[in-house]
Amino acid sequence: MKTVDLIVPCFNEEEVLPEFVRVTNEVIATLPQYRFRYILVNDGSRDKTLLVMMKLAEEFENVKYISFSRNFGKEAAMFAGLEHSDADYVFVMDADLQHPPQMFPQMLREVDEEGHDCCALYREHRKGESIIRTGFSKLFFKLQNAMSSVKMPYGAVDYRVMTRQMVKAIVSMGEVQRFSKGLFTWVGFDTKWLPYKNVERTIGKSSWSFFGLFKYAIDGITAFSISPLRFITVMGFVLFILSGISGAFVVVEELIQRIFHFGYSGTGFATLMCVILFIGGILELSIGILGEYLGRVFVETKKRPIYIAKLTNLEEKDRKNGEN
Ligand code: UDP
Ligand code: MG
Repeated sequence: MKTVDLIVPCFNEEEVLPEFVRVTNEVIATLPQYRFRYILVNDGSRDKTLLVMMKLAEEFENVKYISFSRNFGKEAAMFAGLEHSDADYVFVMDADLQHPPQMFPQMLREVDEEGHDCCALYREHRKGESIIRTGFSKLFFKLQNAMSSVKMPYGAVDYRVMTRQMVKAIVSMGEVQRFSKGLFTWVGFDTKWLPYKNVERTIGKSSWSFFGLFKYAIDGITAFSISPLRFITVMGFVLFILSGISGAFVVVEELIQRIFHFGYSGTGFATLMCVILFIGGILELSIGILGEYLGRVFVETKKRPIYIAKLTNLEEKDRKNGEN
């Protein structure tokens, strides 16, 4: 029988988890040809998520959990789950039922019968979201696709099923600052994109702040593209040319004035201010962009673990680096 692992990152999901497992179990019951296993990852929740997980594990023997020593972020939680999975097909999905398990049969068909390496979903519309958030997220996808070699459809979410082979490729990428949407695309393989209707979160609340999403977007762009660095070079070149042209202008103007006693030679204070501020701004921006990359290099060179697990009920053989 083919096996399927469900990787579910959870941060403060005590309210929705039991409902998530209940609904998911209903769908699983309709797919007797697969053996399902949950790998719930408690990402340092501050509520009783871990207790809820333990209770679920007592009730259902296919519920496994890994609990982090603190909040490491959703990316780290997904990595931990993927690293521990050993199934033929591996799902990554949210705990809040915004990623409907009712899509399982269709998604599994794509990988198991149609021969795709991955089946991922994108949101068809973004009902129940503010116009500003939708606008920014559109802008992000545009920028991301324009600047880097990894392309993804607008509205792509972290809900997908992958083959063992693809999961192995993803786990083999050991970067600490992970941007999974990009990693999933970077590894290549053949992904089937399916649309799905956005479901509003009914229980609990989203843990993303606007600032958090902004940082996420910057992370995404810097992780897969060095175009901003190239932009600095181009900008420097353009400024160099401009200054040459304006220098030539000044010389010619001065000559005309000296020889023909014609024309106006002002002090040019305002112009000077503008140029100084402009160049100052460009320099600040360039240093900022350099800093973004340098900071990432700094974090990456420390080679710290992506997460630290404190507790798990996974079998000994499935455990990684000294977890107990
Ligand atoms: N999540 C996580 N760690 C975090 C933040 C979120 O594991 O630091 C999980 C969360 O429990 C949920 C998923 O990531 O299963 C998506 O989070 P959320 O619903 O808050 O994001 P949104 O749906 O608004 O993008
Ligand atoms: Mg959500």
